[in-house]
Amino acid sequence: MYQGQRIRLITIDLDDTLWPCAPAIQDAEKVLYDWLSARAPRLTQAHDPISLREHRRQLMLQRPEIAHDVTAVRQIALRELMHQFDYPSALADQAMALFQRQRNRVEPYPDAVPALAQLRQRYRLVSLTNGNAEVQHTPLRGLFHCSLSAADAGACKPDPALFELAMDWAGVTAYQTVHVGDDPLLDVDAARRVGLSAIWVNRAGMNWPPDLEPPWCEVSDLSELPCWLDDRARDRSINAL
Ligand SMILES: [Mg+2]
Repeated sequence: MYQGQRIRLITIDLDDTLWPCAPAIQDAEKVLYDWLSARAPRLTQAHDPISLREHRRQLMLQRPEIAHDVTAVRQIALRELMHQFDYPSALADQAMALFQRQRNRVEPYPDAVPALAQLRQRYRLVSLTNGNAEVQHTPLRGLFHCSLSAADAGACKPDPALFELAMDWAGVTAYQTVHVGDDPLLDVDAARRVGLSAIWVNRAGMNWPPDLEPPWCEVSDLSELPCWLDDRARDRSINAL
């Protein structure tokens, strides 16, 4: 961080930073599978949820150009299967819409809403995700100034594209940007490679990977983040005098 440059943009990861990811996906996949069992039984007689995941994995290998876009992968996989089992492709679109509605039913960690509400008063807040939760349809609607996904950027983190898209949107430099996320490689290390300061949200009390340079700051949840950033801003303005 260059002293004297005021932080103007905070980019924040979604899954496992602001809500637990696995329960939302597991619930969405179960609801989808039950729905498919009733409407496309030939498909579910041939596939269980594990083989459906393997089918998506194979599709990502065959079509690397869409691998960063998890919605496109799921949608195309469902269309392929509907075609294969002689169902109309419209059924795939209905299934995808159902999955997406369920995917958005995330349960934010209790510290998320109060911290974001405080941060958005002082900084531009942009969510950055490799996943496909739609923030405007989650309980965190209205808390971000902008929400971007790997599908928007054309690449997943750790590629720089998503960070660069956020900085372009806000019209700021890397020196004026802080990234906050749970993943040492995809969030902290990837952000640093673009020149951003990075804060590690370590909710599970993990050890920092010994082969990576430590983060600028480590927090166990987001509640301490607004005060911590205010203190750094004060330090920088004193140092800049
Ligand atoms: Mg994450």
